[in-house]
Amino acid sequence: MTDRLTTEMWTSLQSQVDWTHSFIREFYFVSHRYFEKHHLGFAENFPGSPFATVRIVWAVVALHTDDLRGLEFNLIDAKSFEFQPVDDSPPRIVHDPTSPTPWRVNIPSIGFCCVSREILYTVLGNEYLGPCLRLGYEAPNDDHIAATAIDGHWRLCSNCSNAWEEFDSVPYARCPSCGELTLLQKS
Ligand SMILES: [Zn+2]
Repeated sequence: MTDRLTTEMWTSLQSQVDWTHSFIREFYFVSHRYFEKHHLGFAENFPGSPFATVRIVWAVVALHTDDLRGLEFNLIDAKSFEFQPVDDSPPRIVHDPTSPTPWRVNIPSIGFCCVSREILYTVLGNEYLGPCLRLGYEAPNDDHIAATAIDGHWRLCSNCSNAWEEFDSVPYARCPSCGELTLLQKS
């Protein structure tokens, strides 16, 4: 289940995860527009424009709860990337409601710092275990349509009525027929 991060939820996640013994398994930029490679990462090159989702999938190694194996964060409309000296302290996420990009994310273990308009998070359970289960799935985006869950692992596109098979743990998927980004709606 993907949700918008709140400061309360972040406080709760911090208490459930031993960050020292956890690690980032995936980290990548999902661009929503064209940009030149030399311009990647500097907000002054993108004045006033949202430009990317940063997706971070965290493997949670030391468990305080049995149903949390990983965390996925999607930093929506991320800007102002900075890279800073690396240290071992846990990630910090701070919310400043007065800013148009209110979420400030600092991950000292890789020296990454950025701000974003919002953060979507997904708690990953046992379905996350496996060598490459999460790689390649679509990043969340507001610009999506519904796909309805039907029998088994099948889902139905609300745009073109094509049905296709996908893991139930994958909320966002592109319809293989019309190419629309869909979000799974369970009935
Ligand atoms: Zn479709």
